[in-house]
Amino acid sequence: MRFTGIIEIVFNKTISEDVKKEIEGLIEYLNRDYLKRGARDPREAAHINSYTFKDSGIVLEIETGSKVRIDEATLRVKNVLSTSLGSKYRIGVRGVNLHNPIITLDNKISISLKIPLIKSIASDGDHTIIELVELDESDLKKPLFLRLLRLIEDKEQRARWGGKSEHWVLIKRSGKKTVEASMGDPNDVLERIGWMKRMSVGQWLYTPPLTHMLNTLKRLFIDEVVKPLGFEEATFPKMYPLEVGLKTGHLKGVINSMIFASLPRSYDISEFEEFIDLMYVLNEAPPEELQRHLRPSSYFLCFAQCEPFYWFFENEILDDSSLPIKWYDQSGPSYRWESGGIHGIERLIEFHRIEVVWLGRPDDVIKIRNELLERYEYFMDKVLDIEWRMAWVTPWFYEQSGALQGLKESTIEIDKPGTIDFEAWLPYRGDRDDSKNWIEVGNISIHGTKFTEPFRIKHNRGETLWTGCSGFGSERWFIVLLAQKGLNIDNWPKKYIEYIKAIPFPRSIDTITYPRTKDGKELLAKIINLLKQ
Ligand code: ATP
Ligand code: ZN
Ligand code: MG
Repeated sequence: MRFTGIIEIVFNKTISEDVKKEIEGLIEYLNRDYLKRGARDPREAAHINSYTFKDSGIVLEIETGSKVRIDEATLRVKNVLSTSLGSKYRIGVRGVNLHNPIITLDNKISISLKIPLIKSIASDGDHTIIELVELDESDLKKPLFLRLLRLIEDKEQRARWGGKSEHWVLIKRSGKKTVEASMGDPNDVLERIGWMKRMSVGQWLYTPPLTHMLNTLKRLFIDEVVKPLGFEEATFPKMYPLEVGLKTGHLKGVINSMIFASLPRSYDISEFEEFIDLMYVLNEAPPEELQRHLRPSSYFLCFAQCEPFYWFFENEILDDSSLPIKWYDQSGPSYRWESGGIHGIERLIEFHRIEVVWLGRPDDVIKIRNELLERYEYFMDKVLDIEWRMAWVTPWFYEQSGALQGLKESTIEIDKPGTIDFEAWLPYRGDRDDSKNWIEVGNISIHGTKFTEPFRIKHNRGETLWTGCSGFGSERWFIVLLAQKGLNIDNWPKKYIEYIKAIPFPRSIDTITYPRTKDGKELLAKIINLLKQ
C-alpha cells in the first residue's frame, strides 16, 4: 500500500535564503531519521521526494508506506519545521494542507465507496487508486485514513462473505418431545379469542389474560435463571442518542432495521398553528406535513436493549471489588423494523424482552456465560419441557480476516467472542427436520472488547474487560410453549401453572362485537372452561 500527496506549508512571513538553507537541513534530517522512525522497512516509512520554496511557504512531494502513513508523516514535517524555525527565526506555521492525497492499494477492490472525502476510485491492473480531496490540519489529526482503510477492508470482507450474515453450527439439542399441535398457529388463536388486538404492523395490545401469561413466563425465567445467578434488576432508557448507536456499532451495522425518533422543531404551539388548522379541516394527520415541524431524528428506539449498559460504564474505572457486574432489564419494549416475515407476535416491530448483561474480566465473563447456558438448558428441559436446540452463530464481523477463510463448520471456539442462539421447534409450521420450522427464542453473546473499547470501560490495574449479554424474547417463548403444549392444560409445565394460579386469572373481553367472530367467541369460551379446571 502506498500513499502520495503534496504538502503545502504556509509560514507567517517571507523566508530568507538563510531560512531556506536551514529548511534544507531539516528536510535532510526528516528523510534520514524522523520520517523513518516507527518502521523497520524504510519503504514502509515516509520520504520527501522533492520540494520547492514559495515566498512564504514550501511545497513538498511526499510518498509513504503504511507504517508511517501520509497523515502522520505530514504532521511530523509540520512539527519539525514549526519547532525549529519558531525558536531560531521566530517564524510560525500558519497552515498545513495536503493536496492531491492518493492511496494506492495492492489489490483490486470490488466494493463501491461514496463519501465526500473521496474524489475518485480507479483500478489500474492489479491496483486500486483512491484519490482524496484536499485535507487540512484538523483532517490530518483525525484518523481518517485509518478509518477509511478499515471501512474498505470491512466492506470487502462483507462482500466476500456474501449475503450470509451468520453461520450456524449445532452445539446441542434436546431429545424429541411429544407435542400437542392440534391448535394450529397459536398466533391465530390468540387473535381469534380476542386476547390481543393488532394496532399497527407488528404492534399489538395484549389484554389482561395474555399479559398475565406473558408476565408469568417472564417471572418464571427470572426466578429460575436470572436471580439464582445473582443478576440484579436495573431500569434502562428505551430511546438512545445517536452517539450511543455509533459507539455500539448498531448504526453502522443494522441501520436499516432501526426506528428513529425526532423532537418537535419548537415548543411554541403557535408554530404548529397551520398544521393544527389543517387537521381541523381535513380530519387527517398527514405525516408529510408533520415532518415539516420536526427536527431531524436524534434518537433511535431501543434496539438491542443492552446499549445503555455500555453507555453507563463509559469512561469509568472499575476495580476487582465491583466486578463482575450482573444486571438485567425488563423495563420496556424493543423496536425493530423487520422487512418481512412479520407474523402474529412471533416477529414484531415492538416486542418485549428480558435483557441480561454482565461485565468483568474475560474468565469471569466466560464463566457467567457458561452458568447461564446451564441454567437456560435446565429452564428449557426441566421447567418448560420444550424441544430445543442451541447453535453457535457468530456474525461475520467477529471473525478475524485471516481466520475467515480457514473456518470450518465443525471447529468452533466457544470461549472466543461470539453468539449462541436458542431455538425451539414450532410444530404448527411443519416437520422438525426442516430448519424453517424452528424459531430463535433467545441468545447469549460474549463480546470480548467490542463494547469496552469504544466506551473506554477500564480496569484500575489495566486488565482487559469484556462484556456479555443475553436476550429472552417473551413473546417468542410464549408462542413456542403454546405451539408445543397445545390447549390441554394437563400438558403444561407444572411450575408455570403454579405461577399462573398465584393470582386470580384476569377476565377476558367478551362483548357484543368482540371477539369479532362467532367461532372466536366459542373458542374463547372453550379456553376459559379449560382454564377453570
Ligand atoms: P431473528 O433471527 O429471528 O430475526 P435476531 O437474531 O434478530 O432474531 P436478536 O437480535 O438476537 O434476534 O434478539 C434477541 C432476541 O430478541 C431474539 O432471540 C428474540 O427472542 C427477540 N427478538 C428479536 N427480534 C424480534 C422480533 N422482531 N419480534 C419478536 N422478538 C424478537
Ligand atoms: Zn444485548
Ligand atoms: Mg432479526
